Amino acid sequence: MSDNKLKQVVVYGLGAMGRPMARNLHQQGLLVGIKNRTEGKSKAMQNELGLTAFESDSEMFQAADTVLTCVSADQDLMDVVAGFIDDLKPGSTVIDCSTVSPKTARTLADDLASRGIAFMDAPVSGGVEGAKKGTLSVMVGAEREEYKRASEVFAAIGSQITHVGKVGQGQATKAVNQVMVAGVAQAVCSALAFAENCNLDMKKAIEVLSAGAAGNWFLDNRGHTMVKDEFNVGFKLQLLHKDLKICQEALKDLGADLSVVDQSIEDYAQLMDMGHGDDDISGLIRLRRAAFNNQES
Ligand code: NAP
Repeated sequence: MSDNKLKQVVVYGLGAMGRPMARNLHQQGLLVGIKNRTEGKSKAMQNELGLTAFESDSEMFQAADTVLTCVSADQDLMDVVAGFIDDLKPGSTVIDCSTVSPKTARTLADDLASRGIAFMDAPVSGGVEGAKKGTLSVMVGAEREEYKRASEVFAAIGSQITHVGKVGQGQATKAVNQVMVAGVAQAVCSALAFAENCNLDMKKAIEVLSAGAAGNWFLDNRGHTMVKDEFNVGFKLQLLHKDLKICQEALKDLGADLSVVDQSIEDYAQLMDMGHGDDDISGLIRLRRAAFNNQES
C-alpha cells in the first residue's frame, strides 16, 4: 500500500516557536529546509542542523510536500504565503501553526485550493517550553484525509493532537484557549498582588494555593517568577494582546462581547505603552500592584 504521508517539510518562521519545531522535525527526518525573513536566523540554523543548501528558495519549496508556517500575525501570514505559493507543487500542503483569525485561515484555504494545494490551520498551545520538548497541544482544522496525511508531522511537534473540525475551527479553538489564558492571568495576578499586600510569605502562599481548588498551570509555572519581578520567560504579552483582538473580532461577529477580553486588551495595551510588550503575560501583576499602591511600577 502506498504511503501518502507528508514527510518533506519546509518550516517558514524561525521565531521562539518555529526554531524548536524545526529542530524536532529534523530529529524525525522530516525537515527538508527552513526559511526566515531575517536571514541570519536561517543561516545559523542551516549550519546547526547541517541541512542541504538549495540553489534558490524556489528550488527548496519545490522539493517540499509541506510548508509549516509559524509567523506573528494575520497579514504576515498572508504575505509569506503569497511569496511561496507559486513555487509549491499541486498536491502539497500548507500547515499553519501561527495564531491568526479563523477568517484568515478560511481565506488562505480557498486561495490555495484553487491551485490544488491543501491548507490546515494548526495553532498550538504549550509555549516555548512545549515547543522545545515536542509536547505542544495542536488544534487542527482540516479535511479528515488531509489531517491523517500529516500525522507524522504533528507527532514530531506535539503530544496532544486533536482534529477539532474543518478549516478555521482550529483557530476558533485557539481563540477560546486565549480567553481562558487571559482570564487565568487576570485572576492569578490580581490574587497574588492581594497576597503581597496582606504581607503573606509568597513562597508558602503559592505552595498551599497550588495544591487546592485554585491551583493551575499559570500559578505553578509563573507564580514564583512574577513575585520576584522576573518577566523574561514565556509568552510575550504583545502576542496575547494580538490574540485577544482576534477573540474580540470573533465575538463581535457573534454580536457579543466578554468583559475579560475587553479589560485584558486595555491592560496589555497599557503595559505595551509602558515599554513592557516583550515581557511575559504575568507582567500584568505590575498593574494589579499599582491598584494597591496607587502608583505604577
Ligand atoms: P516570534 O518569536 O516573535 O517570531 C515571529 C516569527 O515570525 C519570526 O520568524 C519573524 O521573522 C516572523 N515574521 C513576522 N512577521 C513577518 C513577516 N511580515 N514576514 C515574514 N516573517 C515574519 O514569535 P513566536 O513566539 O515564535 O510566535 C509565532 C506564532 O506562534 C504567533 O502567531 C504566536 O501568537 C504563536 N504562539 C506563540 C506562543 C509562544 O509561547 N511564544 C505559543 C503559542 C502560539 P523575523 O525573525 O525576521 O522577525
